Amino acid sequence: MALLTDNFGRQITYLRLAVTDRCNLRCQYCMPARGIDIVDRKELLTYKEMYRITRVLSELGVNKIRLTGGEPFVRKNFVDFLEMLSFNDKLDEINITTNGALISKHIATLEKLKINTVNLSIDSLSKEKFAEITRRDVFDEVYKTLELLEKSSLTLKLNIVVQSGINTDEIIDFVNFTKNRDIAVRFIEEMPFNGVGQRKTTTVWDYTKILDLIQSNYSEIKPLSSEKSSTSRNFKVAGYRGSFGIIPAFTRTICGDCNRIRITATGLFKNCLFDEGVFNIRDFIRKGASDDDLKKLFLSIVKEKPENGFVAEANRKKNNNISESMSTIGG
Ligand code: SAM
Ligand code: SF4
Repeated sequence: MALLTDNFGRQITYLRLAVTDRCNLRCQYCMPARGIDIVDRKELLTYKEMYRITRVLSELGVNKIRLTGGEPFVRKNFVDFLEMLSFNDKLDEINITTNGALISKHIATLEKLKINTVNLSIDSLSKEKFAEITRRDVFDEVYKTLELLEKSSLTLKLNIVVQSGINTDEIIDFVNFTKNRDIAVRFIEEMPFNGVGQRKTTTVWDYTKILDLIQSNYSEIKPLSSEKSSTSRNFKVAGYRGSFGIIPAFTRTICGDCNRIRITATGLFKNCLFDEGVFNIRDFIRKGASDDDLKKLFLSIVKEKPENGFVAEANRKKNNNISESMSTIGG
């Protein structure tokens, strides 16, 4: 079987697929309060097209998929799409990233479908601050989801974007949250992907600063071994049940082991979070591409995967400033 391998010998096994660019929240670091450009519905990949792309990629060695967005549960019939995907026996893992505001009623179905991991984004444990960050009053529902997920058979990870001057005072609260809970919390460096610069991003709260703060608060922090391609470096406070991780999303020290590609909700193929998109697969499919055409295309475009996110950023031609929203890229 031909496998997707780039020019640096990295094998691509992981697809992040954005199922929509729409969202029910308006997180300050991701979207402007008003006036975000959303695309016409017919520009979005259909579920059938997404299923086909996934099936072809799985025949080229992709065995793990993350569904994201926008907010995946905003798209009608998303749970039915998950069911379709779960029939693909070449996929070992189906994971979801969600803001959790719409999913409490679906958790039993997610368990039945054997979804592996749910990454729940929750940037504050304070209802007021959560509302300030997301510009929506949904903390109680998100927290209810968190508690239901914790009781479920699904693996739960919490995503926290570390926002200078906003929630850095809660970093230790989040680490303490893992004391008696079997949960992984992951601190993400804030990136400038915020849909036309609502927040001025300073990279002051980078990986090192976050880790230094945590280390200075506990007598023993143990590094955990993780998969080579993991996006986070993971640790545990000695004696704590859960763990914490830090994702150097902006300082990009993890690119050497990258095994990921992304496809946006409109079918734009991205080799790297920081590139501006390599090829529109939706248009290729709609012009009648066969499965073989798709395979040839994928095998050739992964060869263009840049060595790291800095090279990808430097190669951008159209949008030199990386200011598109993560909701369009698929975080
Ligand atoms: N709506 C879902 C959610 O919030 O989990 C999925 C899509 S969201 C774009 C995926 C992840 O990207 C979330 O954890 C979110 O916090 C993160 N994200 C969005 N904008 C970001 C930014 N500018 N810097 C760092 N992470 C960001
Ligand atoms: Fe929506 Fe997720 Fe972006 Fe927040 S981070 S606005 S929940 S897509």
